[in-house]
Amino acid sequence: MKCRKCREAAVIEIRRHNAAFCRDCFLEHCNRQVAKAIKEHDMCLEREHILVAISGGKDSLALWAILTDLGYATSGLYIDLGIGEYSERSHKFAVDFANTRNLELKIVDLTEDAGFDVSGGARSSHRPPCSVCGISKRHWFNKVASEGGFDAIATGHNLDDESATLLGNLLHWQVEYVARQGAVLPATNDGFVRKIKPLIRLGERETAAYCVLSGIDYIVDECPMAAGNTGLAYKAALSVLEDFSPGTRQMFLGGFLSHGRERFFGADEEVRLVSCRVCASPTPAADDAECAYCRLKPKSRHSGFSDG
Ligand code: SF4
Ligand SMILES: [Zn+2]
Ligand SMILES: [Zn+2]
Repeated sequence: MKCRKCREAAVIEIRRHNAAFCRDCFLEHCNRQVAKAIKEHDMCLEREHILVAISGGKDSLALWAILTDLGYATSGLYIDLGIGEYSERSHKFAVDFANTRNLELKIVDLTEDAGFDVSGGARSSHRPPCSVCGISKRHWFNKVASEGGFDAIATGHNLDDESATLLGNLLHWQVEYVARQGAVLPATNDGFVRKIKPLIRLGERETAAYCVLSGIDYIVDECPMAAGNTGLAYKAALSVLEDFSPGTRQMFLGGFLSHGRERFFGADEEVRLVSCRVCASPTPAADDAECAYCRLKPKSRHSGFSDG
């Protein structure tokens, strides 16, 4: 198997592109795919400052490396969710990556700020752990980005993640979620910072290969809270289709973003937002002006984050 670009020995085959690449051409290919996604969806401009959501896993670290290679000014934000050994190890991978590349990594400790970790918050609020995690992450990404004057928050959602989410939303006809699922969620006047997903043209096999081939160490284990997550079943279903017909995921998600999504516009209701009376984050006016994150917190707590 030869590299499509330089004809040297290939180290990876990507069936949906009907191509194989050597190490260097593969890394270049990944950079090009991210640059293409950014341009195609008007995600951000060259001079903008981007806050990268870092979990310590392959997607977020590959994303941070690629955005930096492409010349974007970036800082990372890692949120310690207090999930035992998983959090300890992922925290270390995030810090090691930032130190090796001399990049700024901001760190939030959920237990310190909120008084609960993900499991504790789930027990006391009777919500699933992933819901507590999602509320906490959304809160902190937006708060740090808006207070730090960042132009956009970049997350490591890849082609496999986004196509599985789309499949799940369509299977349940959650049309308001379908209408809101985009490669870019624009900033709002109410205080939400723009969110972008630059990895939507790369599958998770490619982000893993990117890390291995460029010497990035990352946490390989899945978060223990992910067990039983229906998203994993949708990913598995799409893998069967992808094996049978390479390119299915790209066609499904790419087609949706370029001409399917607009057909769902208007399916999501416009929600009037106000400032949370505790933390000033944007929150729906109907929720007694207290955001979902503050409602999870014991009342004596207040917030703060550190640079690490
Ligand atoms: S699996 Fe759930 S708890 Fe774990 S990081 Fe993902 S959303 Fe958070
Ligand atoms: Zn090559
Ligand atoms: Zn709040």
